[in-house]
Order: sequence, then C-alpha cells, then structure tokens
Amino acid sequence: MNETDAVQTLLKDYPLDDAARARVRERALEWLERPAAHKGEMVEQLLHGFDLGSAEGRAMMELAEAYLRTPDAATRSLLLRDKLTQAAWQKNTSDNKTTSIAKSLLRMGRGVLNSPVRIVAGPIAALTTEAGMGQLARHFVLGETIDEALKKAQNEGREREIFSFDILGEGARTEGAAQAYFENYKHAIARVSGTGNISVKLSALHHKFEETHRAVCFVPMVERLRELCLLAKNHTMNLTVDAEEERRLDLMLDIMEAVSGDATLTNWNGLGCAVQAYLKRTPETIDRLQNMAKAHNRILWVRLVKGAYWDSEIKYAQVMGHAHFPVYTQKTYTDLSYMVCAHKMLQASHIYPAFGSHNALSLSGVAELAQGNVSAFETQRLFGMGDGIHEAMRAEGYTIGVYAPVGPHHDLLPYLVRRLLENGANTSFLKLASGADMTKALRDPYERAGAQTPVPHPAIRPAAHLYPDRLNSLAPVLGHRDELKTLLAHIHAPAISVTTAKDTDALVARALKAQKPWDKKGADHRAGLLEKLADALVLQQHAFLGLLQDEGGKTIADAIAEWREAIDFCRFYAAQARSILEPHTQFGPDGERNITHREGRGAFVCISPWNFPLAIFLGQIAAALTAGNSVIAKPAEQTPKIAQFAVELAHGAGIPKDVLILAHGDGKTGAALTGHSDIAGVAFTGSYEVGKIIQRALASSPGPIVPLIAETAGLNAMAVDSSALPEQAVDDIILSAFGSAGQRCSALRILLVEDKAAARILDLLKGAMAGLRVGPASDPATDVSRLIDLEAADNVRKAIANLKSSGAVLHECAYAGDDARFVPPIAIDMTGQNFPDAEIFGPVLQIYRVPNLEDAIRTINARGYALTFGVHTRLPGREAALFDLIEAGNVYINRSMIGATVGVQPFGGHGRSGTGPKAGGYQTLYAYSREKHVATNTAAAGGNASLVALQDSL
Ligand code: NAD
Repeated sequence: MNETDAVQTLLKDYPLDDAARARVRERALEWLERPAAHKGEMVEQLLHGFDLGSAEGRAMMELAEAYLRTPDAATRSLLLRDKLTQAAWQKNTSDNKTTSIAKSLLRMGRGVLNSPVRIVAGPIAALTTEAGMGQLARHFVLGETIDEALKKAQNEGREREIFSFDILGEGARTEGAAQAYFENYKHAIARVSGTGNISVKLSALHHKFEETHRAVCFVPMVERLRELCLLAKNHTMNLTVDAEEERRLDLMLDIMEAVSGDATLTNWNGLGCAVQAYLKRTPETIDRLQNMAKAHNRILWVRLVKGAYWDSEIKYAQVMGHAHFPVYTQKTYTDLSYMVCAHKMLQASHIYPAFGSHNALSLSGVAELAQGNVSAFETQRLFGMGDGIHEAMRAEGYTIGVYAPVGPHHDLLPYLVRRLLENGANTSFLKLASGADMTKALRDPYERAGAQTPVPHPAIRPAAHLYPDRLNSLAPVLGHRDELKTLLAHIHAPAISVTTAKDTDALVARALKAQKPWDKKGADHRAGLLEKLADALVLQQHAFLGLLQDEGGKTIADAIAEWREAIDFCRFYAAQARSILEPHTQFGPDGERNITHREGRGAFVCISPWNFPLAIFLGQIAAALTAGNSVIAKPAEQTPKIAQFAVELAHGAGIPKDVLILAHGDGKTGAALTGHSDIAGVAFTGSYEVGKIIQRALASSPGPIVPLIAETAGLNAMAVDSSALPEQAVDDIILSAFGSAGQRCSALRILLVEDKAAARILDLLKGAMAGLRVGPASDPATDVSRLIDLEAADNVRKAIANLKSSGAVLHECAYAGDDARFVPPIAIDMTGQNFPDAEIFGPVLQIYRVPNLEDAIRTINARGYALTFGVHTRLPGREAALFDLIEAGNVYINRSMIGATVGVQPFGGHGRSGTGPKAGGYQTLYAYSREKHVATNTAAAGGNASLVALQDSL
C-alpha cells in the first residue's frame, strides 16, 4: 500500500474524537509535570546534550560501537585518539550541567592526547573511557548474566513492575551460535522461573532466518521455539517473540502459528509477540494474531512498540529496489498508527495487550482507549529509560513491564547504539519533552497528519526515484512469502536458438554502413530507444531470471541483481547521453564561433564474458550505442542464449538490426572482429591475458589507431584490523568471496587479517561457512551454486589441490550432488606463504594472518592488479591512510566488495585490471565517442556586425 492511502485509512479508523484527544493531552501533560517525571538520570541528560547530527554525537556513538570490542590496547588507544580528535567538543554549547562536565572532560582528554605527555596520558584516557563505556552499559543493561540481572531486578523492582528479560546478542551467524543462544535461553528461563517474562529473538535461533531459506530454517525454528515455550510453560512464565525486520515478518508469523497451535502448549496463555506500529501492515498483523489465538483457543500477549529498525528498513528498501517502504516515512504517521493498532488490540477478544513506549501522549491515548481500566493492559519501558512517565502511571495503578537487556557488555553494543540514537534523535519524544517547551512533544498526531493530504517525507526517496535523472530498477520483495512464491512459480527459461556468426567481414560492413545515420538521429532519440529496451527488460523479468539461472547458474538473488543492473545500465547511459553529448560552445575572441561536438566513433566491437552475461553484455552495448556507434557484440560462448534474447528485445524496442549486430562464437570470432581494420574501437571485459591479446591485435592492425576499453581481472584483497566488528566483517567476507561462487571479477581472493583479530574472525568465518548451502541455482535456499562449466571447475579444483599442499584448510563446504561443475567454497590459511600472482576464478579464499596490514598491502599492490579492495576498520585515520596506500579502482570500507551499483559506484580498475574509464561512470561516454570541433569566423564578410553595433556601456 502506498503511504498516502495507508495514512488515509488510519485517519478514517482513528479511535479518538476531539474531546477524547483533549483529555489525552491533558493527562500526558499532567504525567509529565509530576515531580521527577522527566528529569532523567545523569546518563540520559548526557545523551540529550549530544546532537547526533554533530561530529561529537557521531564520534561518541562510533566509540560506543567499537571500543569494548577491540581486543588489543594499542588499537583501542588509536580508536580513542581518532574519535576524540575528530570532533570539536568545545563548539557544542551545552544544555545542562552533566553535558558540560562531560564535554570538558572530553576536551581535556583530547588536549592531553595531543600533548607531549600523551605517553602517560594515553592509558589514563583509555581507563576513563572504559569506565565511561562501562557506566553507559550498566545504565542500559540490567546485568551481564541472568543471575546478576535477577538480583538487580529484585533489588530495584517495584510494586506492579514486571521484568521482561531480553538476552542480548546479534543474530546467529552460525549454527554453533544459534545452539549457544538456544541453550542460553533455556538457562535463563529456568533461572527466571515464574518471576517474569522472557523475550526471544528468532534470529538468534537460526542462522538462516530468511524467507528464501524457509525450507531450511522453518522446521528447526519451530522446534526450538516450541521447546522454549514448553519450558516457559513448565516454569509458569511468559515468552515473547521479539519483533525484527519486516522481511522476516511472514516467516515469524508462520512460526508463531505453528507453535501456537502445538498440542503440548494448550492451556498455557504465556505466548506472545511484539508488533511494530511503524509498519503499514501492522493492523493486518494484529488481525492475524487475533484469529490465530482464537483458532487455538488461547490468549496471546501482544506488545505494541513503535519500531526498532526504521533507518535500516529505509536503506534496505532503497538498496533492494522495493517499490514501497514497509514503514511510514514520517514519525507522525507512526504515532497515528500506534493509536489505531492500540485500539484494535484492546478490542480483540483473544489478545492481552502491552504497550511499549516512552511517549506520554501515546500512553495517555492508550489509557483513554482503555477508559480508565488499569488492568486492561500493561505498559512497558526500557530499562534505563523513561522512568518518569511510567512512575506516574504506576502511581495510578497501571502495571509496568520493564524490558531489561541481559548480556556481557561487549555483546550489547548494537543495543547500546540503538538507545543512543533514540535518546539523541531530535525527534525523540524524550528529547523534546526534556526541553522547556513541551508543545512540540505534545502535538496531536491526528491533527498534524490530517491537516493536509498525507505525503511521504520529501527527504526520503523511494527506490524508484533515488536518482534525479533516471528511474531506478525495482525488484520483487523476496522476504514476502506470497510474492516469493508467485515469483518462483513464474520464472522460466524460454527456448532460444542460436547460430554462430560466419562472415565477420560482412557483419563489420553492415555495421559500418548503419553507423552514420544512427549517429545523425541524435542523442535524445538513441536514449529514448535504450529506455524502451530497459522497459522491455522489466517486462521480461521472469524469462531473464530463468535464463540467468539456467544458462548462467545464478542464484535467485544474483539473477535479480544482474537483471536490475542491465536495466540500470540502459537508463544510466541514456541519461548520460542526453546530458554530455550536447554540442559545447567555447569562450573565445569576438567574431568567431567555437563549438565542440561529440559523435560516435564508428563500428564498435563489444566482447563480454560469461560471468555477467546480461549486465556486462548490455552495459557495453548501451554505452557504445548511446554514444552514437553501431555495435557488433560478441557474447561469451558459454552464455549465448541470454545475449540472443537481449538483442531480440533491443531490436523489438526499435534499435535497427544493422546498428546492433550479434556475432556468436568463441575466441576465434572475437579475434576476427578485433583484428578487423574497419572497426573504430573495442570494449572488452574478460581475462587479463585475452585483454593483452586484443591490445596486440589492435596495435598490429594496419588500419586506424583505435581505442581499447578493457575491464580485466583482479587480485582482490580485504584488510581486516582488530577494531573491525567481527560479525559484520565475516558477513562481508562470505558474500565477497563466495557470492556467485566467486565468479566475479570483484570477488575477494586474499583475506588479510591482523594477527590480533585473527582468532575471533577465523572462528566466526569457519562457522559461517559451515552454514552455506551449496546446491542448484533454482532452489531459493541455495547460497552457492555451480561454476560455469566443467573446464572452469576442473581448473579451480586443480588450483585448490595446489593450495592444499602448502596451506591449512580452515573450512571446505560440502556438496552432496554429482554434478562435476560444482566446487564447494573453501578457505585456506596460507600464512607464511607468498601471496598469489593471479586470481583463481572460483569460491576459493586464501587467508593470511599478518602482523602488519600495510606491508601486506604493498606486496599485493606490487602484483600489478588494481581492481577492488576491501577494508574493515573502525579507525577513521586508518581508513584514510589505507585508501591512500591501496592500488585499486574501487575501495570498499566496512561493507562487501562486490555488487557495484551503476552510477553510484562507477566500477573498474587500472594496471593489469583494465584501462578505464569505469563502467557505469560519468566519464564512460567520453571514451566511446569522439570530439569534432568547428571554428567559424563570423566576421569574415566585411566586419563583425555584432561588435560594431555594440552600444557604450556608460
Ligand atoms: P575470457 O577472457 O576468457 O573471455 C572473455 C571474452 O573474450 C569471451 O567472449 C571470449 O570469447 C573472448 N575472447 C577469447 N579470446 C579472444 C581473443 N583472442 N580475441 C578476442 N576475444 C576473445 O574471460 P571469461 O573467462 O569469459 O571471464 C572471466 C574473466 O573476466 C576473469 O578474469 C574476470 O576477472 C574478468 N572479468 C572482469 C571484469 C571487470 O569489470 N574488470 C568483469 C567481469 C569479468
């Protein structure tokens, strides 16, 4: 549903009339004005003082994120210095005493670190920071162990306060981690026994909690959750399934449904889950939960919160190309939704509602809906936050749940960062309410939202409109159960016949003849046809996904990404052609006109590899065509059908058949075309060796001197230092090294990991590799599929055998089938051996534990390739220094190093990796076109009329 419609429905269903809303406001104000209600504690005050938009706010958050996790003192002190010097602490005028003290301390710390006594001061500053971080942690976390937490809850708990224990941690990356979390939950339930509630994150129970992996995760997750519920039932306590990202919601509800209906859990009314008001679909979710509870004859506990992943939901939808955001883009709409959902929950016969919020207006609204019935619901606060309002409610007889995180301090950082963000955000209710003027905090969401036609936030661009000059490609939402099912049912590979090109001379002659008229049509005309081709690609989604899976061996995620990239290339170069191919008038003397035109070079030969049989194939073609060339395109011999289908579509879109000519064949056909003396340029993507062959062929051709645009191989590495976040680094290593079975030019080949960080990183990596599923491309649960053909697989196997003789296998994945094109991912520790000289084009990761990343990088630079390079560090100073040191066309920091987006990450290398310009970049069309300048003497016929006629300016 689009946001405007969704909000209009909310306005229609809004449960509070004018009089009720006035009462809501009054009650909220009264709660807030009670003594001590919104004073907050020291830490809260401190957080309120930092604007998260400022350098100080960011530095503080980044410090909190990485400090306690960094294993060695030297790196910790570097981190500290970077963060303290990065911000101008003195500039921020403080709003309260605590903040001003904190800022002075930080200023001092920074001064000391920069002073000559820093050798002594460094450890002191480190100790202070450690203590500060520890204090923050203790403020938001009830205890490091469940026993500690229980004790604290006993000491600090008040009447009508119920603790809900949340075992902290990140989602499981490995089956081992999932097992450990599972055991942890069991232990916690047994310890808490009868005295509270436990919150369970499903992502902790399985490392593949994804809709695409339903076949793998559903049964074990149901079984694990059922076992925990049974335990909770035996210990007479409640268990709440926590809310997570929207893409897991369908799966989560289906797991809930299976557990809720389990015969062993009848007569237990302790099962519950959290729902998030920021999701447009939450009213529907509440209906489903009510029906579920009714069908299973139980009461479900449902906790309504505003939502915990708003910023990441926005980014995810933009990156994945989803047409709509699952969340509201304006906070007011979420507040509106909160009341509509609350009403639904209070009305539902089989739901016992809990409301988690720190917003006095929302809670007062809930109280209004419950018409003074203090036992109709429970309200919840987060431990360490919002004590005041809840205290006021407790005094009125309401029951307060305290959501209390439990876990070792180094595991709590993502949680801590969330809390910092919440406290520091300018729109946070707590922040607004802590100011002198509360009118902003108490603005009525119904009136605000209803004052004008609901609109999505103008500063948050939906995926389709991320770019100002072109449409972005969109994609199906794989996290939605029904959408995924429909997609899988429709994917098919059409039958396509292919004939090898015979007479390359004739093809060149045809292309040559067609080029001038095509060029004369103008950039706008050509761009329009490329956009038509993009539209045709969109319509043929299912056929292309089928072909990419069938012929190219691509997994569903890879196939979608490639199909999108092809669409983006067409639209991007169309937009580029319109903007940069226009004639350009130069400044010069009066009486002369100087205009530089750009035109196509002639007949271009485009030679592409099999590993991106659609995106690279069409990317080269789109660039060459929009620039005004005719094209003879030779696809890789392994993937002719995809090329054939794409070219048929291009002709269907109106690109003349002689302007775009397909020449199927192997290297011999390629050589015949690139050796032809009538061609005007070559675009080549493929191996370094073939790139050199083509360069020599062009050099020795008797014809004109023509350009070669080459994108070739890489020897790509990633450097991980000890300040990196291990889970994130390992996610990115797995994706970069084994995504597309390592058959990407950008793929990670060499992992450089700092000695000090190696143990943790490699342990996690091993576990994460064990969870990779190797299987057919058509199975959505497959992580890694086959190599392109037997020859490629045999080559990779040989290379692996070689490595095994000198290195130690960290992990080798299993493959159960009998198709010899499969080579399961392998990681080999090669520490102490020389770095490789060239890429192994498959899922093979060579690991080097090194004492000094910089030295290792220099050696790799010297190999002469310069394509991609990854860096994982939390040290800004190091980010910059490594970026300077690294020889690569594309450097990726704290993310994966594959999957460059057209026009966003212009892609390509130098040295042995290519000539440039980058693909999908802003210089590309300059290389595919040439300049033609005309200088006209406008004064030739007896004088310069416009100059002579000029009036004095006096
Ligand atoms: P390849 O070099 O074997 O083949 C590429 C293309 O060149 C094919 O169409 C092939 O038929 C053609 N060809 C072969 N011999 C030729 C000759 N003598 N004259 C003209 N054309 C000839 O590469 P591949 O195995 O298809 O692809 C994998 C390689 O491509 C890897 O090295 C990878 O790193 C590289 N690659 C680079 C990029 C990049 O952007 N830098 C992108 C994708 C792939």
